[in-house]
Amino acid sequence: MHTDCIFCKIANKEIPTKFVYEDESVAAFKDLEPQAPIHVLVVSKKHIANLLDVAASDQELLSHIMGEVIPKIAKELGVDEKGFRVVVNTKVDGGQTVSHLHFHLLGGRSMTWPPG
Ligand code: C5P
Repeated sequence: MHTDCIFCKIANKEIPTKFVYEDESVAAFKDLEPQAPIHVLVVSKKHIANLLDVAASDQELLSHIMGEVIPKIAKELGVDEKGFRVVVNTKVDGGQTVSHLHFHLLGGRSMTWPPG
């Protein structure tokens, strides 16, 4: 846990937040500034700065998030039938503003391409 990281504080309950999903390694909560009717952030409790900072020992965690947690949340929030988008902004050009790896789960409307 990084003491100055906002998502570490949220995921580890230093900042009280209603979770959409939680288990021992992952937390998910609604984005403060939703960009779609469904906009959830899925974060690891362990601090990982971004996709470039993922270690070999994090593979199981990443697989858990992508292969289990996100599909489960999507089903629970009812966006599994029509679909949804998962976004991982990485560093400055990727539009990353919080340096703690997070997966945006966006749904509830039709998405456009290319993204801005
Ligand atoms: O990918 P990026 O780093 O820009 O995403 C950060 C996201 O975290 C933003 O969508 C922002 O609205 C959200 N956020 C939040 N709660 C905070 C700080 C940021 O939901 N306390």
